[in-house]
Amino acid sequence: MASEDKKKKPAFDCEAASSTVKDLRATFATEKTRSYEWRASQLKSLLKLINDHESDIIDALRSDLSKPAHEAFVSEISMLRSSCEFILKGLKRWMMPEKVKTTITTFPSSAEIVPEPLGVVLVISAWNYPFYLSVDPVIGAIAAGNALVLKPSEIAPATSSLLVKLFGEYLDSSAIKVVEGAVPETSALLEQKWDKIFYTGNGKVGRIVAAAAAKHLTPVALELGGKCPVIVDSDINLTVTARRLIGGKWGLNNGQACVSADHIITTKDFAPKLIDALKLELEQFFGKDPLISEDLSRIVSSNHFAHLSKLLDEDKVSGKIVHGGGRNKDDLKIAPTILLDAPEDSLIMNEEIFGPLLPIVTVDNIEESFSIINSKEKPLAAYLFTNNKTLKGKFVKNVSAGGLLINDIALHLANPNLPFGGVGESGMDAYHGKFSFDTFTHKKAVLYRSFVGDAPARYPPYTPGKLRLL
Ligand code: NAD
Repeated sequence: MASEDKKKKPAFDCEAASSTVKDLRATFATEKTRSYEWRASQLKSLLKLINDHESDIIDALRSDLSKPAHEAFVSEISMLRSSCEFILKGLKRWMMPEKVKTTITTFPSSAEIVPEPLGVVLVISAWNYPFYLSVDPVIGAIAAGNALVLKPSEIAPATSSLLVKLFGEYLDSSAIKVVEGAVPETSALLEQKWDKIFYTGNGKVGRIVAAAAAKHLTPVALELGGKCPVIVDSDINLTVTARRLIGGKWGLNNGQACVSADHIITTKDFAPKLIDALKLELEQFFGKDPLISEDLSRIVSSNHFAHLSKLLDEDKVSGKIVHGGGRNKDDLKIAPTILLDAPEDSLIMNEEIFGPLLPIVTVDNIEESFSIINSKEKPLAAYLFTNNKTLKGKFVKNVSAGGLLINDIALHLANPNLPFGGVGESGMDAYHGKFSFDTFTHKKAVLYRSFVGDAPARYPPYTPGKLRLL
């Protein structure tokens, strides 16, 4: 019995978590993480880590997801390099206090907003872009001068252990720690008091994170998912649209991406043309048998494979497949699959797909798509393909989502001047570029007064005459 108990005990329990936080608080108290020099040196070390270990990172991503090297380079390595460089460029300026105007009420005075680190923060990341989603929030936390723990996803174990190794070699381990583990380890971390928790993953666990944070009044950033819709109008360049749709669905980790196209909404008349164009380009991209293409990631786990199979095998859905449908359970591969008009109450139309299945919903009039989208939970991203200026204007005005992108998929997250985050069910708070610095920074309000101009009318005894003077 005693040995069984020993077996069940997670390697990293509450005691270990508490001692980790204590150590990080001691480091933070030395004030070393606050200096520009420390922040910049850690960010430069991160850049060096990425540059020195590009091939190790690609190997880990191949092992976890059979992610093609090209995709790993573009969507994880190169994105992080740009993120680090952008933040290093702005950091000194962002750290400066910002002078603000004063008012007659406080006259004479001066005022400023002083950015200060929050303290000791926790970053919990997801498996689908396991390197990028771990390191990008860490860049923000370091830039803002915090000490931190990163908890990568156990579902991408090769990347998780690479992160432990490389962070240990390149970064200041007294302030930046990686804790590996699954639910027990994450739960032990969540018991602790943090100054911010930054979580990427699904909304169910997002609620667990938010509830744990609430016990300590800890602020949270929740980077969640949802069903990202793509409206395709008929006034488009069909070939470019088809290529971008394929790139933004199957070219993004075979659909296992939070900003991937979940489903398409187009008109009944236009759907056959769009499907033909997609079929043509799919064959160009992934060949006649996509199950053996090396340019398609595999499904991350047998659990996720079973989930996607369930969506596809539902009786009311199986007859709706107009392209693909092939699967190989042993290799965890699913071919690009298109479905036409799956019933509204089917699982595939109600759960985030997060894989290579693409349902197409048809409407009589393209503007109906706005009310369809707005009748559902707010997505992380919504997309529109059109040349029509009026339609673009209506889309931007009427559709609520974390972010909108017109005539492409996912590319909005590559602009560091735009905040990246969700709204409603797709999350709260945002990051990227300066927003990453802001999310881990407290903006401290400071008002300076001197001893002159002390108005007696402020003080008791309160008389009607004094009130008139104020
Ligand atoms: P996941 O299974 O890797 O879980 C995310 C993290 O939560 C992991 O570190 C995991 O250890 C931890 N976790 C899991 N269960 C837990 C529990 N019960 N208690 C405490 N911690 C727990 O990833 P996932 O959730 O499958 O990721 C996919 C989801 O994430 C999708 O919904 C996707 O849209 C979303 N996502 C969002 C973004 C974004 O930037 N907004 C990016 C990637 C993925």
